[in-house]
Amino acid sequence: MVRCQCCGMRVPTFTDVLDARDRITPVLPPTPMWHSTALSAATGAEIFVKYENTQPIGAFKVRGGLNLLATMPERERAAGVLGYSTGNHAQSLAYAARHFDVPCTIVMPENANPTKAAAVRALGAELVEFGATFDESSARAHELVAERGMRLVSAANEPRLVAGVATAYLELVRTQPDLDAIVVPVGGGSGAAAACIVTARLAPRCEFIAVQSAASPAAHDSWRAGEVVERPNTTAAEGLATGSGFELTQRILRDRLTDFMLVDDADIAAAQWSMLRDAHTLAEGAGAAALAAVLAQRDRFAGKRVAIVCTGANASQAELRRIIPRG
Ligand SMILES: *Cc1c(COP(=O)(O)O)cnc(C)c1O
Repeated sequence: MVRCQCCGMRVPTFTDVLDARDRITPVLPPTPMWHSTALSAATGAEIFVKYENTQPIGAFKVRGGLNLLATMPERERAAGVLGYSTGNHAQSLAYAARHFDVPCTIVMPENANPTKAAAVRALGAELVEFGATFDESSARAHELVAERGMRLVSAANEPRLVAGVATAYLELVRTQPDLDAIVVPVGGGSGAAAACIVTARLAPRCEFIAVQSAASPAAHDSWRAGEVVERPNTTAAEGLATGSGFELTQRILRDRLTDFMLVDDADIAAAQWSMLRDAHTLAEGAGAAALAAVLAQRDRFAGKRVAIVCTGANASQAELRRIIPRG
């Protein structure tokens, strides 16, 4: 870790990513990345899909949870971890807590994706369903942390989560070193920040493009403004749903990101259907956002070698009904 000279924040380095890989690989084998003929035909680009949806929790975030808990001091582990999340961050913590036998409490909004809530319970974490919105769950999470002395784990302002998640990009860049562009969906920005750390070192000439939903543009607008801003947060894609930028990830994105795109929720749903129909791949909304970005700007990506990260597969039943066209 290095301390940022302007803000004092601890920022993960490439060495932290290599250390994280040594901790994570014995638990999680590398995920596949394949060229997709069907998605290449659909987009006009040469599309490579990094299948993070094949992780045991159905999303890349598990890498971050494992790295964080692996490096936690024994005393902190005994007290346990607590997270609030609309889904995959929760599953990541619950999975890692189970692996290391650490107590884990998760706070989710009452209307959370039932697929994700059930998965958290199945992993053995205590699930507290509280509030109508993410902000209300957040307030409850802070109360519980104070009462129980557990370690609160942010979804994005955590250098060790970012270092863990970066192992996906280590695999990606080493499998396919001659890419023209990598497209990554963004919520809190841990995945995109992780990609920055790896590509800055191993693929400095590769374009690196982030994408968020226009219905929840906080990370996008924070990057464009050069400071953390709050924005309305109404996207149906839980993985992309944040109402505010995060200091740590914005700090890392500032230097390396080539561009940040916004796509509509309708485009995301269409891309989810394309993943399912053309590539036989189950993606939740956030997991299809990178494909939506390439489809939205075909001219820009035409003929280029583009990696899209399918970040997650945890679509609810209602969501699947919505994306599959009738008739
Ligand atoms: C969390 C998540 C994202 C966004 O990742 P951040 O690190 O929060 O930017 C994208 N896709 C899925 C499936 C996610 O769970």
